[in-house]
Amino acid sequence: MADNGSRVALVTGANKGIGREIARQLAQAGVQVILGARDAARAREAVADLAIEGLHTSAVLIDLDSEASITEAATTIAEGHGRLDILVNNAGIFDPADAPPSQASLSAVRRVIETNFIGTLAVTQAMLPLLRAAPAGRIVNVSSALGSLTLNGDPGSPYYAAQYIGYNASKAALNMLTVQLHEELRDTSIVVNSVSPGFVKTDLTGYGTMTPEEGARLPVRFALGGDESGRFFEPGGNETPW
Ligand code: NAP
Repeated sequence: MADNGSRVALVTGANKGIGREIARQLAQAGVQVILGARDAARAREAVADLAIEGLHTSAVLIDLDSEASITEAATTIAEGHGRLDILVNNAGIFDPADAPPSQASLSAVRRVIETNFIGTLAVTQAMLPLLRAAPAGRIVNVSSALGSLTLNGDPGSPYYAAQYIGYNASKAALNMLTVQLHEELRDTSIVVNSVSPGFVKTDLTGYGTMTPEEGARLPVRFALGGDESGRFFEPGGNETPW
């Protein structure tokens, strides 16, 4: 995609689920969207699906578990656009062998934290020079209410029963990335926030009360604007306790 001067966004995990909807809504808003996907065929299919709707996007291969793919993706974006206005860290996994602390499979916990936290940190580090090259960079970390330390310890919370040590810790760590990055970038024009998309029916959950289209709305809102930074929001725009 030749750069046309409008904002450039990378959405990781954009071949399906909430990520694909974020890509669609950003493209509808006139943003040049780069769909991050770890599989070339799935990436092509998603770009083709959006093209049927008249939305022209491109794709880059990016696997959160492969530092080489992340570095290569940053090089590709640098060569094609020279900057990145919006980074939506959406890609993530859940592992069915995850469970409360006494029962969780250690390999599942390791895998989930490796992808959801270390992988997202690696993407963010690789893309930061490109975000710094944009006039007003926006980083949206797609977190979860399950990453809230406060809600995990609140028997009155609707999320209290979902005690998955790997997944929930991965999102709590992602929230720490939001806070620390916000502090580190205080003197720049880049803002960074965590957003919880809601309980969305996707392949990750198998069920949920919201559609991916609805789940994409908050991440898109923070991708497109607002000067708030270093905060954690839930659908409806209220703040989620850390
Ligand atoms: P999904 O439909 O399973 O989509 C996940 C996306 O992440 C897919 O594109 C997947 O690619 C990609 N992905 C997984 N591992 C990857 C890796 N190593 N490298 C690159 N991409 C990878 O799940 P979703 O529900 O849309 O989830 C999107 C985000 O929202 C996740 O971060 C999730 O934790 C968060 N979230 C979801 C809910 C919910 O209710 N659904 C609630 C709170 C937060 P493949 O197709 O190749 O697997």
